Amino acid sequence: MLLAEGQGAARWRGVGNGVYTGEACATEAQAERAGEQKARRQVSAETPEDAQHRALASQRQPIDLTQHVLGAGARGVSGFSGPDQPSDDSLQRCVRCGYCLPACPTYLETYSEASSPRGRIRMIQAVADGALSLTDPSFVAQMYQCLDCRACEAVCPSGVRYGQLVETARTQIERARSRPAGERALRSAVFSGLFADQRRLRLAGRALRWYQRSGARRLAHGSGALDALGLRATEALAPSLPDQFYAPSGEVYAAPPDAPQRGRVAFFAGCVMSAAFAATERATIRVLNANGFTVVAPAGQECCGALTIHAGEMDRARTLATRNIAACEASGADYVVSNAAGCGSALKEYGELFAEFPAWRERASAFAARVRDISELLGEALAHGELNTRFEPLPLTVTYQEPCHLAHAQRISAQPRALLAAIPGLKVVEMAEASLCCGSAGVYNITHPQMAGALGRRKAGHIVATQAQAVVTANPGCALHLRAQLDQMGSALPVLHLVDLLDAAYRGRMPI
Ligand code: SF4
Ligand code: SF4
Repeated sequence: MLLAEGQGAARWRGVGNGVYTGEACATEAQAERAGEQKARRQVSAETPEDAQHRALASQRQPIDLTQHVLGAGARGVSGFSGPDQPSDDSLQRCVRCGYCLPACPTYLETYSEASSPRGRIRMIQAVADGALSLTDPSFVAQMYQCLDCRACEAVCPSGVRYGQLVETARTQIERARSRPAGERALRSAVFSGLFADQRRLRLAGRALRWYQRSGARRLAHGSGALDALGLRATEALAPSLPDQFYAPSGEVYAAPPDAPQRGRVAFFAGCVMSAAFAATERATIRVLNANGFTVVAPAGQECCGALTIHAGEMDRARTLATRNIAACEASGADYVVSNAAGCGSALKEYGELFAEFPAWRERASAFAARVRDISELLGEALAHGELNTRFEPLPLTVTYQEPCHLAHAQRISAQPRALLAAIPGLKVVEMAEASLCCGSAGVYNITHPQMAGALGRRKAGHIVATQAQAVVTANPGCALHLRAQLDQMGSALPVLHLVDLLDAAYRGRMPI
């Protein structure tokens, strides 16, 4: 049941006040783990099954991939060290059953064992055992070819926490390898510059908006400059930015006095949502208000850190997390509500992010326990007969695309569909492979355009085949990637957020 106002906030107070310093704590478990790793078996060479998958792959003209054969011998840096290591428990849990293979988008596109969850887990194990170098190019390629969509994690009967494995493996890689100076500068500009400070991000957003509206874009297209710089595909992914961004600065949006008062929530705006989907942000506040929640928009909140974690920059993510925790604690809210699947997933895992950092561990876990995706919060209200159902009919047919970090990482799948079903007149038609990754995956569609494009076309094809009038999703990355893929197919089908539909139904306005 939902908490009464202030009830949760009281439980937030009084937990640790430590300052995050970035220092790791050595644990007995780590020492034990080192011993266990030495004793573990050596990884064998390619199995007949691998060969079979490779044969299948050649029939399907696989995307440009580095095929990897385990047991090639260690070179350079080997093994994992320090904090943020792949969980030995998860590695041990993998029984190689292969249940995860049909759920894995990269496996479905390549039929290569190396591009499957099981294959990647074997490689991580090989690095842990010292049988494969941490900086081996094929290991690095596979860790980054993975979309971190976590579809494998959701179907694994052994409870392997694959997201933790790949995210820590990337972190270990980034600490061990030295990138060329240009790449280092770019990563620093993105992760220590843009995503480290919302003000800088909004400034960059304003520059992009100027580019889109001033005629500079037409010039760049007409002159061939985009092609010369190899930026045409990346530019196509850029959102069309609104006149105004949503910048949370401590506002309080009170629930209407005649609504049943259901508590106080802190709205986590998210960096991409607040810049590219400001209208959806405002719709989120209206929908929460309509359901009796007083909404606080805490000042000082930053990017959730999801993109940073996926890029193997765990320390930078922890810095962002400490600011978000402090900002939301100060709001006195019962829940922290997110409308972006990727943000919600990252926020819910702050406890694990600080698992080896006692100064913030308790505080981060308390914060994480309060995080709810908006469809989770409203879905719970619906299940308890507490949802405001004063909807106007929306005579529309839509299809629902499941964001990976909602369906797989947060296991929220039924609630968005139940909320859509509660809107009178709205018909939902299921697409094929609704929960297969669309290829967006943070910045994956920029770093891996071939695979992202293949998955995006696959998804767009499924969407168009439903003959729906709009596609609904709940994550900014998915929305932008789907928009670009549908455009490429010549489809103008609107891409909406679940909240856009709920808000439209409350206000009696058609969303398209
Ligand atoms: S389903 Fe789980 S246990 Fe089976 S191969 Fe995949 S990760 Fe390993
Ligand atoms: S996270 Fe996604 S892409 Fe990566 S191995 Fe698992 S299912 Fe495959």
